[in-house]
Amino acid sequence: EPVMMQTSDPGYAAWRQRAREAGVTAALAVPIRAQGRVVAVLTVLSRFGNPFDIAHIERFDRIAVRLAGAASRLTGSPASESRGSGGRWTATGVDVRAALDEGRVEPWWQPQVTLDGRIVAVEALVRVRDHDGSILTPAAILPAAEELGLMGVLGQTVRRRAIEEAGPWLAGGLERVCLNVSVAELLNPGFVAELEDLVGLNELRPDQVELELVETAPVDAAALRLLSRLSLLGFRLAVDDYGSGWASLGHLARVPARALKIDRVFIRDITTSERTRALVSSTCELGHALDLTTVAEGVETVDQAGMLRDMGCDLLQGFLFSPPTDRAGMEAMLRGEGTEQWPLFGAASTPR
Ligand code: C2E
Ligand code: MG
Ligand code: MG
Repeated sequence: EPVMMQTSDPGYAAWRQRAREAGVTAALAVPIRAQGRVVAVLTVLSRFGNPFDIAHIERFDRIAVRLAGAASRLTGSPASESRGSGGRWTATGVDVRAALDEGRVEPWWQPQVTLDGRIVAVEALVRVRDHDGSILTPAAILPAAEELGLMGVLGQTVRRRAIEEAGPWLAGGLERVCLNVSVAELLNPGFVAELEDLVGLNELRPDQVELELVETAPVDAAALRLLSRLSLLGFRLAVDDYGSGWASLGHLARVPARALKIDRVFIRDITTSERTRALVSSTCELGHALDLTTVAEGVETVDQAGMLRDMGCDLLQGFLFSPPTDRAGMEAMLRGEGTEQWPLFGAASTPR
């Protein structure tokens, strides 16, 4: 349902919030230029799903080109001018190059919590701090990085900063830091060496680092070889978004994973759908049969958490405990600030 609205409209904030809650995951921003100046930014929000899906990025691009054409007719400036300044503007309007150059790419953090309320792991989630102080999320950052061919550099930057920030936390007793890696990134030459260097320089052990594998493409033989190598070196592998998209039963058989992260779309429905409940419950059992740590993503309510406890899920992650926060926020949490109010569920299992 298209909505035409300006950010200055009184209802905008409420509408944007509703859109967010409805699962809008991506934004397309096209700067509209007249006489060389950006006079407006046209934003399209949509329910796109996984930001890595190349089909979505291509669709973004097609829309962007069409919108730029329409904008140029409105403003009388040439379409190429509307589309961008030297290829820095991207489908989602994030200037990843500048963000990298100016040190505005940051890891944000979300804890993985045991049923008795201990933080055993923290997941790094990429954020870009915009010039106006607003925080951009992966749905906007990743397609832009992909388009500019900067996924490799972006990933490296996030991994380096994440490991540096988490180093002291790990020394202080945190068990591991979790990094999101797409299978495409993994296949970049030098990936393994870079990771080994990073771990060595920061005096960590490989088993303190868990790589959460996110991807839409199938894992081929080359990727499997790399995954085995990483596993042999001692790095922990986790299958992210298990149950949706690529992360299927077939992968569990082949990827030497130590953890399974159940996609949050399933967690969302466990209290209302008996079928989803059965799926999640059997996934927890499967995980344990394979000696994997089971992690539930997107846990938002006490009811969901209680149900996951009964199913034997090992770790919980989600807004019920904390949204992703910056370094200072994570440090406060690790000191126990704000965690006193966390609901406790009593450990029904021993996380591995
Ligand atoms: P993910 O790895 O599955 O991360 C979990 C996502 O769920 C995060 O979105 C997080 O903010 C969100 N989330 C956590 N708890 C809740 C909850 O209780 N309710 C709801 N509704 N959402 C929750 P985010 O940060 O937008 O990240 C989206 C995806 O982008 C990640 O999904 C991951 O696939 C990817 N990503 C993030 N950082 C990186 C990175 O550095 N490199 C790569 N390659 N991918 C990344
Ligand atoms: Mg993840
Ligand atoms: Mg996930």
